[in-house]
Amino acid sequence: MNSSKTILQLPSDQDITGRDVGEAEVALLKEVIASGVLNSTKGTKVARFEKEFAAAYGVSRSIAIASGSAAVHAAIAAINPDPGSEIITTSVTDMGALTPIMYQGCVPVFADIDPFSYNVTAETIARVLTPKTRAIIVTHLFGNPCEMAPIMELARQKQIPVIEDCAQSFLATYRGQLTGTIGDIGSFSMQQGKHMTTGEGGIVIAHTEAHARRVWLFVNKAWGYGDPKPDHYFNALNYRLTELQGAVAIAQLGKLRQNVDRRIAAARMLDKKLEGLAGVRIPRAPKDSVHTYWKYCLDVDPVVAGIDVGTLAAKLKEYGIFSAPRYIQKPSFRCEVLKDGRMFGASHAPIRVEDMKLWQDEDRCRKEFSGTYQALSRMLVLPWNEFYTAEHVDYIADKIISTLAGAAAPVGK
Ligand SMILES: *Cc1c(COP(=O)(O)O)cnc(C)c1O
Repeated sequence: MNSSKTILQLPSDQDITGRDVGEAEVALLKEVIASGVLNSTKGTKVARFEKEFAAAYGVSRSIAIASGSAAVHAAIAAINPDPGSEIITTSVTDMGALTPIMYQGCVPVFADIDPFSYNVTAETIARVLTPKTRAIIVTHLFGNPCEMAPIMELARQKQIPVIEDCAQSFLATYRGQLTGTIGDIGSFSMQQGKHMTTGEGGIVIAHTEAHARRVWLFVNKAWGYGDPKPDHYFNALNYRLTELQGAVAIAQLGKLRQNVDRRIAAARMLDKKLEGLAGVRIPRAPKDSVHTYWKYCLDVDPVVAGIDVGTLAAKLKEYGIFSAPRYIQKPSFRCEVLKDGRMFGASHAPIRVEDMKLWQDEDRCRKEFSGTYQALSRMLVLPWNEFYTAEHVDYIADKIISTLAGAAAPVGK
């Protein structure tokens, strides 16, 4: 019996223990309140944030937006595919990366993931490419860049635009290039738990002026502010960020580099502790690339480790380490919204009935998405934070190591 465990409180991105918000945000917020201009069409803060974010990414323009989901939506809308077009995406991502596909009347097509990087690859994308494919959306999951070179080669060859969902990969680089600047359009989320936050919020970067303008119009009901004869040019929403969020975003961006570096430094410490542990694989970035650790995800081989991720997570929870075994639990397409085609009214459109049949048939899914099922059965997502100290990392490492040691102890010893 051991009821007197000492629990170390870990910083959490759900409250002030793990969020770098304070005086800088308050000072800028005060300016907004004092000005009385709370919306971005007349204010200066969102515009300033957009300039500074673009500069940080070395691009000519960025467009702030209400959420990461809206950012993906605007990116798709900028490409403007015909209804019924296929958009290739990943089986393991946030639902906010998927629902915009259907809102644009497009058909989601899922590429399998590599079981260790958890990302789509050129090979898994190639398998589901068809003449109807009009866009590819990649998610750099947990902050680890996708293997982009072969993906871009395939996409360029087929002349298909690539959207990079960077909601989890702020400042991550692939072979020296920032994620979000490799494909055609990059989207980011500033939701509470992301690398930088405005509570809710997002930002988009685009490489051509045409895409950037369409994203900007999409955020503004497609009203041509500043044009000689403005009109509502096409079907679009109000996805604007407020000046209050813009103020917080400026302050957050000022701390982004430092906070990302802290996350990386803490991850290096855990790498050192867990490297070589039997049955455990630590996260690895592609060659010459930098993972920025939105989360720190381990692959645990149940046979070698002698424990499955569910049991390991339950043990860790007793020590106050709230990990997510199996991340989203099931592939995205197994969620009701997709599997049962819960779309508009009684219609399943734009979801195709044959796709629903596949997604409802778990045996077939397991065969066609073997990488996804393997990954989800073995992944342990550890919460990660810029305020983790050596003490926090040691604590997490010790609890993982001791749990595994207990589990793997040969019977009879
Ligand atoms: C968080 C997230 C989103 C959605 O962002 P919201 O701001 O919550 O709408 C989209 N894609 C990925 C990969 C995410 O992690």
